[in-house]
Amino acid sequence: MTDTGLTPGLLARYLQQQRELGGSELFLEGLDREEALDLVSKWEGLGGKQAGAPDSSGSGVSAPVRGDYDSLRTEALACQKCALAKGRKNVVFSDGNPAARLMVVGEAPGAQEDKTGLAFVGPAGKLLDLLLASVGLSRADSAYICNVLKCRPPGNRNPLPGEIQECTPFLRKQIELISPQAILAVGTFSGQFLTGKAVPLGRLRGEVYSYQGVPVVVTYHPAALLRNSGWTRATWDDLQLLRQVMDGA
Ligand code: URA
Repeated sequence: MTDTGLTPGLLARYLQQQRELGGSELFLEGLDREEALDLVSKWEGLGGKQAGAPDSSGSGVSAPVRGDYDSLRTEALACQKCALAKGRKNVVFSDGNPAARLMVVGEAPGAQEDKTGLAFVGPAGKLLDLLLASVGLSRADSAYICNVLKCRPPGNRNPLPGEIQECTPFLRKQIELISPQAILAVGTFSGQFLTGKAVPLGRLRGEVYSYQGVPVVVTYHPAALLRNSGWTRATWDDLQLLRQVMDGA
């Protein structure tokens, strides 16, 4: 999959086939971090780039909800409630489609997200796009992507309790307004937050939880997956569980 003959059509067909065949073969299995990044950058270069879809239009969201959504976003972009406001370049409210059936929730913006104002646009975000594509979902159409924290903690340190307390009303309201069919929590922090369980990620996986009445599936953070491709099979299984939830199975 990493040779130069890769085309967007081929990759999309391959991912689709894996899904139809039950996903017994893993498209990242055996790839190291560089190879995985090479694959996702080719995917982006060949037309798979989906980050940066405008998130302010609220297209597909009903008019009254769109008004509330736009107000919430405006409020978040001006937020000064915690010290992270001082060091940020941008508030990272979301990326993707506010009318999507799936909401992906990560921890907090990293450097590239802080720079662009869009969620999950760094290497982890590119891998996230590829993972979503493997279950027939895309950032542009079928996923709304955001984080628990909307501003980057300095040096990507862990969020502090006060920051979480000030910021999570935005996430709660986003969930209410987007009203997704399912939430995919990526990484330990998001998984623990959305399940309310302070246990390691390995013990959170494999179950369907509920947050504000929305089914929640927990999986590894794509950045962790780039560091340890040994978690690919587990991630694949989690995505199949997500797909089942979304298909109403
Ligand atoms: N990691 C996250 O959890 N969120 C982002 O937006 C980027 C990296």
